[in-house]
Amino acid sequence: MTATATRVLVLNSGSSSLKYQLLDMHDASRLAVGLVERIGEETSRLVHTPLATGGAKRETEGAMADHDAALKAVAAELAADGLGLDSPQLAAIGHRVVHGGLKFTEPTVIDDAVLTEIERLVPVAPLHNPANITGIRTARALRPDLPQVAVFDTAFHTTMPEYAARYAIDVATADAHRIRRYGFHGTSHAYVSRKTAALLGKDPSEVNVIVLHLGNGASASAVAGGRCVDTSMGLTPLEGLVMGTRSGDIDPAVTFHLKRVAGMSEDEVDELLNKKSGLIGLCGDNDMREIRRRIDAGGEDGARAQLAFDIYIHRLKKYLGAYTAVLGRVDAVAFTAGVGENAAPVREAAIAGLAEMGMAVDADRNAVRSDEPRLISPEDSRVAVAVVPTDEELEIAQQTYALVSA
Ligand code: ADP
Repeated sequence: MTATATRVLVLNSGSSSLKYQLLDMHDASRLAVGLVERIGEETSRLVHTPLATGGAKRETEGAMADHDAALKAVAAELAADGLGLDSPQLAAIGHRVVHGGLKFTEPTVIDDAVLTEIERLVPVAPLHNPANITGIRTARALRPDLPQVAVFDTAFHTTMPEYAARYAIDVATADAHRIRRYGFHGTSHAYVSRKTAALLGKDPSEVNVIVLHLGNGASASAVAGGRCVDTSMGLTPLEGLVMGTRSGDIDPAVTFHLKRVAGMSEDEVDELLNKKSGLIGLCGDNDMREIRRRIDAGGEDGARAQLAFDIYIHRLKKYLGAYTAVLGRVDAVAFTAGVGENAAPVREAAIAGLAEMGMAVDADRNAVRSDEPRLISPEDSRVAVAVVPTDEELEIAQQTYALVSA
C-alpha cells in the first residue's frame, strides 16, 4: 500500500446481486456507489452513480453470466470515472461476509486459509456465504496483489455470554453441528450503538443501548458498555423480530406440523418461513409505506394491514422488555435501517405504553425527517430514544482501512 492509498472498495455480494461503494477514507467520502442485479439472467442490470465527478446515474442492461462478469462491468464503470481498480490509490477491498462462525471475531485479511475457513461455514450459512465467497474469489482474481478484508456480520455478537448464545438443546448435538445463536447485522449494531453513545456525548463503554435494526430483515441487540450481550437473530437470520418476509420467533413444532400434517417438504417450509411469512405473509405487503397507506385507507383491507402492523409492534415491545431485563439499566433505544429510520408510526407504536420502563417518544421530534442521528424522546426522558441512521458500508470501509493501514 502506498502512502497515498486511501480508497477502499466495499463489496456486498448476494446470490444474484453485487452492491458496491468506493470510499475515500481520507475524509470518509463516497466516490461511487452502485448495484448489479439479476446476475446470471439475460436481464442483468448495473446502476452506477459516480458521486466523485458529480455525474449522472448510469444504467447498463444486458446479460452478466456470473459475479466475475458483474465485477468486471463495475470495474469498467469505475475506470470510466478515473477510479479504476488498478489505481495506486486503492488501498484494499472490504467484503461483507455474513457468517464468520465463532472463529472470526474481528475483520480479517483474506488469504487461502481464511477463505477455506469461510467455506467451512457454508453448512451453517447456505444462503449467504457461497455468494460472499464468489465475490471474494472474483475480486482476488482481479487484483491478487491488493489486501482483501472480510468483515463479518456475526463478529460483533461473538461477545455474547455463553448463556445467551446457547440454545437449550442437547449439548453434544449442538456442538457437533455448531448450533448456537450467532446473530447477524453485527456491522450495523456495532456502528449504531457507537453512534448512539456519541449522540449522548458519552463513550460507548459508559452506555447500555438497545439497537433495533428494522430493515426488510430485522434484528434487535442488547449492547452493554459497547459489547453485545444478546441479539434476536440466531443460527440463521430467521429468528427474532417479525420481518418483511420472515416469521421471526415461532414454535419450532410448527415446522414438524407443516411437514407431518400439511405434507410440506423441507424446502417448502424453509421458503414459507423465510420468504412468505412476516409482513408479506400476514398482509401481502412487506413495504411499511404501503402497509401504512392501506391502514390509512381503512376498510377490510386496512384492517388486515393493521393486524400485520400490530403483530410487528407487539414483537418489538416484547424484545424491548426482554432486553431491558437483560441489561438492567437502559440508557438508549436506537431505531435504525429502512423502517427504523423512516417509519415514525412504527417508532411511536413500539414505544407507546412503555413509560414504566422510562421510554417515551415526543410526537414533534418523532415527525422530523433527517439523515442525522437525533433524539425523539422528550427532554426529561429517563431513556433516550433515538433515530440513528446506519451505514454498514462506511463501517466495513473503516474496519478494512484500519486493518490495512495499521
Ligand atoms: P434491507 O434489509 O433490504 O437492507 P432497508 O434497511 O433498506 O432493507 O429497509 C427497507 C425497508 O424499509 C422497506 O421494505 C420499507 O418497509 C422500509 N422503508 C423504506 N423507506 C420507508 C419510508 N419512507 N417509510 C416507511 N418505511 C420505509
